Amino acid sequence: MATIFQEHQAAFDKQAAYFTAQRESFSLKERKALLKSIAKWVTSHTADIQAAIYADFRKPAPEVDLTEVKPITDEIDHTISHLNEWAAKESVGASLATFGTQAWMEYQPKGVCLIIAPWNFPFMLAIKPLVSALAAGCTAVVKPSEMTPNTAALISKMCSELFDDGRVVVFEGGVEVSQSLLELPWHHIFFTGSPQVGKIVMQAAAKNLTDVTLELGGVNPVIVDSSADLNDAVTKLTWGDFMNAGQSCMSPNVIYVHKDLYSLFLSKIDETISKMYGSNTDEIAESGNIACVVNEKHLARLRKLIDESVDAGASIMRGGEIIEEHNFLAPTVLRDVPPSAPVNTEEVFGPVMCVAKYENLDDLLAQINARPRPLAVYVFSKKQAIIDKVLSSTVSGTACINDTTLPFIHPNLPFGGVNTSGIGRSHGKAGFLAFSNQRSVVKQRRGITTTKLIYPPYKKQTKQTIDLVVKYL
Ligand code: NAD
Repeated sequence: MATIFQEHQAAFDKQAAYFTAQRESFSLKERKALLKSIAKWVTSHTADIQAAIYADFRKPAPEVDLTEVKPITDEIDHTISHLNEWAAKESVGASLATFGTQAWMEYQPKGVCLIIAPWNFPFMLAIKPLVSALAAGCTAVVKPSEMTPNTAALISKMCSELFDDGRVVVFEGGVEVSQSLLELPWHHIFFTGSPQVGKIVMQAAAKNLTDVTLELGGVNPVIVDSSADLNDAVTKLTWGDFMNAGQSCMSPNVIYVHKDLYSLFLSKIDETISKMYGSNTDEIAESGNIACVVNEKHLARLRKLIDESVDAGASIMRGGEIIEEHNFLAPTVLRDVPPSAPVNTEEVFGPVMCVAKYENLDDLLAQINARPRPLAVYVFSKKQAIIDKVLSSTVSGTACINDTTLPFIHPNLPFGGVNTSGIGRSHGKAGFLAFSNQRSVVKQRRGITTTKLIYPPYKKQTKQTIDLVVKYL
């Protein structure tokens, strides 16, 4: 019987052969047809997607529609309407030294690609990069997360119904599957997950000098300045923090609120959580408005994170209750989070809003800048000078003013992190480029050319020409 590595090697070889033999037929028309087939499947199987993700972590169906289904159909529509333009050759002008040549950039599919997905948006984060890979004309092996097995099985079903496995194939399974796949010499690896595993992926890729896109975690600070529109900020932050039960790379991690607004902010947050989700734990758990934590392991991690933050001086303002049967953690608010609490440097990734008071913006920015670079920085303010200061004194993959999460869904913005929060960009054109080799092509004239004047032997006249070239061109 074949080992899992032999199976993976065979799948890789099959895709490599398919790519070599069939690549000429991966026309833009054919790629668009594949994307349309995904959109059609997703639209006609929305109920199955909802059911799978509900079985995995009781995610509410409307949230599935908004955050798992719509981003895929939107990405496909956007890609189909722009693909001709993205894939077109781009001509560039000549210099004096290259006078008489024609030059352009062309976008080739990189080849056989690996997509490794996380569990937190288990359908969307596996299929969105697949859309980019197919748009670029690549083949792909997709490895969904083992933490959401129902969704992984559905992804596998979808791909086997839609694609020849020379073009797209899915391998379900856990770390051992991922590690075995990472042994192969991919032409690109697109990984979404934690910074810890991102390092493992990059090390594996380095063995073959494989290019990577790493979409990693975010310890995203929020600054609520004294001029902020409080009601507006509170509503947006409540949704930003508890959507997907806070299991989002774009979730606010710690919300730093100016001291003048602090007490009012906390009381409005309390009211807003009750309004959006309900006021008692059983009611919230059964409301169908908020998802559960993905599994016991993550629930235990969150419990520990809360305990350690409390030990460091934070207090639980509301929530903290757990229904173990469903891995349900009630929307929790930790207040007075001190700079030493672990939530300042560790991704919360759960339904826990962390709030801290600040007085001096420079001190706060210094604290933020002393930590790894975030995926997103959020600022709520009416003052342009404050907004400018926050933007100019921080470095992050994305930033959002007076809201959260939007950089992820904006169709015309490349998405990604910086250093610890990621490498490379995805979505839309950036996703297409991630899976494309940008080839630079020069077409030289035949016969007399300027470059021939500098070829050896280096006689007096040639040397004079080279002197002129060095001096003036
Ligand atoms: P994870 O890194 O634990 O797992 C991601 C994938 O890697 C899974 O498919 C898993 O099977 C595989 N994997 C796990 N351990 C591995 C190992 N030792 N070797 C090889 N492969 C391994 O991440 P997760 O818990 O599934 O997802 C949550 C993380 O993903 C968070 O940090 C979150 O911020 C991040 N994330 C980032 C984005 C983004 O776009 N930047 C989006 C969603 C999630």
